[in-house]
Amino acid sequence: MRTPLIAGNWKMFKTVAEAAAAVRQLGELVSGVTGVDVVVAPTFTAIHAAAQAASGTRIGIAGQNLYWEKEGAFTGEISGGMLKEAGAAWVIIGHSERRALFGETDLTVNRKIGAAFASALTPIVCIGETLDQRERHETFDVLDTQIRQGLEGLTGNDLVRLVIAYEPVWAIGTGRTASPAQAGEAHAHIRTRLRQWFGADAGDQCRILYGGSVKPENIAELIAQPDVDGGLVGGASLDPKGFAEIVRKARPA
Ligand code: PEP
Repeated sequence: MRTPLIAGNWKMFKTVAEAAAAVRQLGELVSGVTGVDVVVAPTFTAIHAAAQAASGTRIGIAGQNLYWEKEGAFTGEISGGMLKEAGAAWVIIGHSERRALFGETDLTVNRKIGAAFASALTPIVCIGETLDQRERHETFDVLDTQIRQGLEGLTGNDLVRLVIAYEPVWAIGTGRTASPAQAGEAHAHIRTRLRQWFGADAGDQCRILYGGSVKPENIAELIAQPDVDGGLVGGASLDPKGFAEIVRKARPA
């Protein structure tokens, strides 16, 4: 039985004060909601304050990125240990915006997963096809490559310590959600590959989130798909009330 997970990616939004206030409000709103894990990913500068605000609530804090070295002359980067020290327990890796705008590849994703494990952070590893790739019927090939290369060298024991987020790039921030059938098909494919390549038990245990214009109105039909274990939510995670509604609707039936 996989516990549903709803993770909010706040991207480059919210000041330190706004992030802490949102976490406090969210903590109250979801305090009675059991059976769903809840995570938010503030900007680096807000992680410490958000983690303090989350203390005593059921909200986990994630970084939106990390670098694989522990420390050194890497201007602008942040290590897993630094995220952990600031209060994060999770980290998003390989988001499509990082891949498209900042040159991340499956190779860097792979190194970052190793660094996250080394700092006892739970990676949320993003994969997904572009619109062109979908229209060329390459979706499954793209996912296979991202899984193979991104998770290269990992064992079944490693797989159960991370979360996959299937985020079709054409659905991110566009208001265009994958239909439940499209999401269900992609998630089933990912699950099949995880079972084949990491063993049936590990493949069954690994949580696979859907991301791409998730909102309170569509989470229920998405999470009703057998291999959809929750959501990675961008825009709709910024409003604590709407995000809490998504969390409530993700509860197991
Ligand atoms: C995301 O950034 O991971 C995301 C899914 O964004 P949105 O929900 O806004 O589409």
